[in-house]
Amino acid sequence: MSSLHQRHLAVSPDWLALYYKNPVEITHGEGRHVWDADGRRYLDFFGGILTTMTAHALPEVTKAVSEQAGRIIHSSTLYLNRPMVELAERIATLSGIPDARVFFTTSGTEANDTALLLATTYRRSNQILAMRNSYHGRSFSAVSITGNSAWSPTNLSPLQTLYVHGGVRTRGPYAHLSDAEFIAGCVADLEDLLGHTREPAALIAEPIQGVGGFTSPPDGLYAAFRRVLDRHGILWISDEVQTGWGRSGEHFWGWQAHGENGPPDILTFAKGIGNGMSIGGVVARADVMNCLDANSISTFGGSPVTMAAGLANLSYLLEHDLQGNARRVGGLLIERLRAIGAASECVREVRGRGLMIGIELVKPGTDEANPEAAAAVLEAAREGGLLIGKGGGHNTSVLRIAPPLSLTIPEAEEGAEILAEALRSVE
Ligand code: PMP
Repeated sequence: MSSLHQRHLAVSPDWLALYYKNPVEITHGEGRHVWDADGRRYLDFFGGILTTMTAHALPEVTKAVSEQAGRIIHSSTLYLNRPMVELAERIATLSGIPDARVFFTTSGTEANDTALLLATTYRRSNQILAMRNSYHGRSFSAVSITGNSAWSPTNLSPLQTLYVHGGVRTRGPYAHLSDAEFIAGCVADLEDLLGHTREPAALIAEPIQGVGGFTSPPDGLYAAFRRVLDRHGILWISDEVQTGWGRSGEHFWGWQAHGENGPPDILTFAKGIGNGMSIGGVVARADVMNCLDANSISTFGGSPVTMAAGLANLSYLLEHDLQGNARRVGGLLIERLRAIGAASECVREVRGRGLMIGIELVKPGTDEANPEAAAAVLEAAREGGLLIGKGGGHNTSVLRIAPPLSLTIPEAEEGAEILAEALRSVE
């Protein structure tokens, strides 16, 4: 065990789990690569857990950050802040929400917390509808709407959460239904639930579940939910912390695959927009955002340095059509991984959209989750020079692939080769 690992274990909480038996210490990065403290280079297929949206050490972001830091790092949130207003304007327009207001936070958790504050206040209800297998953050309220028990360490929150079907497609009673039947079944379940509860404030959902293993409901599920929610006045919160900014390739936001009946009332974002700088936020219809009748402030939310990073990163993302790149390169990578998966007894399914790809592992010849194989593939891929993630409910048997969106085709092919070898080595 390295001495830094020992020191980490001595000062960190036990629940702050690290990847790998011999955890990696990342010292620097460039493009789609990172280097560890021993000088070893890795292809990064996890993008710093989706925070590196464009590329590591993107010169445009580094320049914007250092120029802004050289001017002023932070002034009071009670004064005007030009980079914040500029980024808010751009996000408001991109969000698709009419008459949108934007509030910046420092994390996805705080963004969801704020969304819950807004929705419960607006609707004067502490009931929240959330999806099974969901993940929404680590605060007291966010864990209480997190359907994935591996990430929800308490049930003592004053929020009352009701879990809705639709979060997991691949297992359970709905597994063998067609898309239309699946949607109809989930809608019937939601209607049944609403028949014997008080009036919930909101439904919160990740359009594609991230921590839950990149599970994606059929297009239109949330549009169908929306029709039911609208009849009750229940708000729709789309948690775009992982799906935002074009990662799914086909859409800029995940909700757009479900937008037939309009955009969400509240959208939350974080992770990739700052390319590693801590930006989170909430976009909401003005009447929803303005329902609070007391002051609310975030000392560091919207800080000029993070906003400068966000502006530079967003400009790069749009100017270089990284959403289109995610669609093209992600499409090829999914195809390649499906071919690799077909040859492996451990692979149950390769799923995903754009550069958000999950590989679900099972015990050979069964439908049983295989977390041991997932852990072993993670280790073997690292040995081969590739960093990937894992997730998928409490059994973590899904390999998660989410590289920076500037991934090139040769890099996608190289990563797929390393993964194929890693899978072969654990069979
Ligand atoms: N929502 C989703 C969908 C997430 O994936 C995450 C982080 N994994 C969060 C919220 C919480 O974000 P943060 O870690 O920035 O608090």
